[in-house]
Amino acid sequence: MIKEKLAAIKKNIPPNVTLVAVSKTKPNELIEEAYNSGQRIFGENKAQELKNKAEVLPKDIEWHFIGHIQRNKVKYIAPYSSLIHSIDSIKLLAEVNKQGLKNNRIINCLLQFYIATEETKFGLSLEEAEELLTSSEFLNLKNIKIVGVMGMASFINNEEQLRNEFIRLKYIFTQLSNNFFKHTETFQTISMGMSGDYKIAIEEGSTMIRVGSAIFGNRN
Ligand SMILES: *Cc1c(COP(=O)(O)O)cnc(C)c1O
Repeated sequence: MIKEKLAAIKKNIPPNVTLVAVSKTKPNELIEEAYNSGQRIFGENKAQELKNKAEVLPKDIEWHFIGHIQRNKVKYIAPYSSLIHSIDSIKLLAEVNKQGLKNNRIINCLLQFYIATEETKFGLSLEEAEELLTSSEFLNLKNIKIVGVMGMASFINNEEQLRNEFIRLKYIFTQLSNNFFKHTETFQTISMGMSGDYKIAIEEGSTMIRVGSAIFGNRN
């Protein structure tokens, strides 16, 4: 079942788009099923859950952290996360850097942007990101690398509005790319699109989609 669902999604996405299988709340058995179908990138949004799964599941899985995280929990994911999608402050980034240093690694990160119209979504504005990227504190962080941007669109069915939100994130990416990462080939990820909207996100330039329920079924 999972195998068919993965194959159906893969058929819809071009080769330059990375699929993150969002396995939050799902048991290891289902993750293994996806793994045995060839999937290697999984997304989690709770620090302890990511750690628990990473410790027992195959070591060649790339674990992405996609949720809001408190600074005191970064230590749980630092040894295991190949990409943290949800950086929304310099303080959080400094903590990721500190834990990267402790684990003797450089942790790839995305800046999360607020693109939805809903009040509840986390994320930076373009102005806040520019401030972060020009701060002296940022320039001293050697154990993190910013490799792109992430955003969550509104939970709505209005295609035009979703499209506009994705266009906004693509615009933010282009601005940052031109103004801060011109000579940085590794700044290339636009993480946008979920089960309900990934096709629109890809049309608007997504390079990484985060798909949960369309693979693993609905969550409780
Ligand atoms: C849960 C989650 C997803 C996946 O959502 P689905 O609608 O199940 O595909 C994607 N991104 C983030 C940040 C999430 O928390």
